[in-house]
Amino acid sequence: MATGIYRTPPPRNEPVREYAPDSLERTHLKNRLEELYRTELEVLPIIGGRRVRTSRTAALTCPHEHAHRLGLAHLAGRTELEWAVAAALGAGHEWARMPFEHRAAVFLKAAELLAGPLRDTLNAASMLALSKSAHQAEIDAACELVDYLRFNVHFARQLMELQPESAPGVWNRVELRPLGGFVLAVTPFNFTSIAANLPTAPALMGNTVVWKPAASAVYPAHFIMELLHQAGLPEGVINLVPAPAAELGEVVLPHPELAGLHFTGSTEVFNHLWQAIAGQLGRYRRYPRLVGETGGKDFVFVHPSAHLDEAVTALTRGAFEYQGQKCSAASRAYLPESLWPELREAMLAQLARVRLGDPRDFSNFMNAVIDRRAFERIRAAIAEARATPGTELVAGGGSRDEPGYFIEPTVLRVDDPRARVMREEIFGPVLSVFVYPDREFEATLELCDQTSPYALTGSFFATDRRAIALACDRLAEAAGNFYVNDKPTGAVVGQQPFGGGRASGTNDKSGSPLNLQRWVSVRTIKENFLPPTDFSYGFNKQA
Ligand code: NAD
Repeated sequence: MATGIYRTPPPRNEPVREYAPDSLERTHLKNRLEELYRTELEVLPIIGGRRVRTSRTAALTCPHEHAHRLGLAHLAGRTELEWAVAAALGAGHEWARMPFEHRAAVFLKAAELLAGPLRDTLNAASMLALSKSAHQAEIDAACELVDYLRFNVHFARQLMELQPESAPGVWNRVELRPLGGFVLAVTPFNFTSIAANLPTAPALMGNTVVWKPAASAVYPAHFIMELLHQAGLPEGVINLVPAPAAELGEVVLPHPELAGLHFTGSTEVFNHLWQAIAGQLGRYRRYPRLVGETGGKDFVFVHPSAHLDEAVTALTRGAFEYQGQKCSAASRAYLPESLWPELREAMLAQLARVRLGDPRDFSNFMNAVIDRRAFERIRAAIAEARATPGTELVAGGGSRDEPGYFIEPTVLRVDDPRARVMREEIFGPVLSVFVYPDREFEATLELCDQTSPYALTGSFFATDRRAIALACDRLAEAAGNFYVNDKPTGAVVGQQPFGGGRASGTNDKSGSPLNLQRWVSVRTIKENFLPPTDFSYGFNKQA
């Protein structure tokens, strides 16, 4: 067989398109939005390459216009889940033996298809089904996903290059094998890129996958499968099963061949899955690898030396883009007393310019929250905070559920820095603010570190270098992704590997070699060119 030691193409981050008025790219995206909006799609489980109809269906709607149907999803049940596991196991042998360059080529081709001909489709699908603005869809469904696909190939190659030393007469090698069995990917609603990365990263390393998307993100999942199909991914390598959570727990989790769980979502659900797996440990043929990136209560900490406009812009973008439904969204802020009056005015001035509505209207900065459950949960959190003594509503607070689930960008100022809204994830457009006395800067750093169980992202704004150095040190455990003079959202693959500690997850840093190494089981081979031919050692010899 012809072979070579191949270099993988140098990865580069996909440039973000502007979609400026009168641009061709804006016209193309708007056309695709209208086409998808007017077509009813049938989304089916895809198992072993076959699209499977089932007896249970669910309507797919737009969060910003819940009366509008985008299509109908067929839900997988026990039988389909059993098939999906069988399909993944059936495809495993051949996929594991497929030379790396051929596996990699599938995902590199997917990256180019997405950067080019399928870009508008994935963006439009994410805008309609997830209620993302053109910019939010572009940085997620197009750019971040292209980046995952390109950079993961590069990182896999780097992992393969990590080879051991060899003593004279010996050649030591390590090879990266897939885990064996199958990997279960359980994905969140809020990022199309994460939804695609969780099944594709283990697949690149030679594993086959059962993929359960979030119920509200089944529509973009259909187009991700279409992308992978067009890129030539063999049947059965990734099996899409939109299924109710309970049945997943009955059929897939207890399967003896479960080799890993690649999860992103809430801390509560990850804890539940970990406990379910731990409780059945004796059933498995190998220890399942558990990777979970979970919730956050991300902070913006402003020092009195900070530039006001920079801090306010980071708060507006960090807290309210995509309606605060990013795991990295700013949801608590520590602001110095000396700057508060000006910060407050500047924030109110920015928020007065924020428009809320349908993502097909590009002048809207914010859109709807994902579904009625989220809408009710966020409204309840705002109402509870407002009823708590010592809480002031600084901005927003309003909401309406027609034609979609709209919640105004809301700012709450709390007297109690340990109030519930400073500790718990709300996952909506709600920013809680604690105004601290300037002289208590150091004590407030401590407070910021100790208030919430999460440690995902955090930002520190200052011009005073001593203050920056102190914050980097005191907040070392408070965030897996720490930003100095930048907003806490918008990590870029290949530039800021992403993930947090404490209750925010296993911090395996998606979009880095650290994540990929969780999906391989290493075999070490020692080959001896001149093996000894007698058992005795020098010290055994007679003098
Ligand atoms: P979620 O936890 O409600 O759902 C995540 C996935 O788990 C979905 O596919 C859901 O259907 C599934 N699920 C729910 N219950 C289950 C069960 N009992 N058994 C099996 N599967 C089950 O989260 P979500 O609402 O989709 O996403 C929002 C959450 O995700 C937030 O907490 C956010 O912080 C987190 N998130 C974290 C990151 C990160 O990188 N740390 C990124 C994105 C989102």
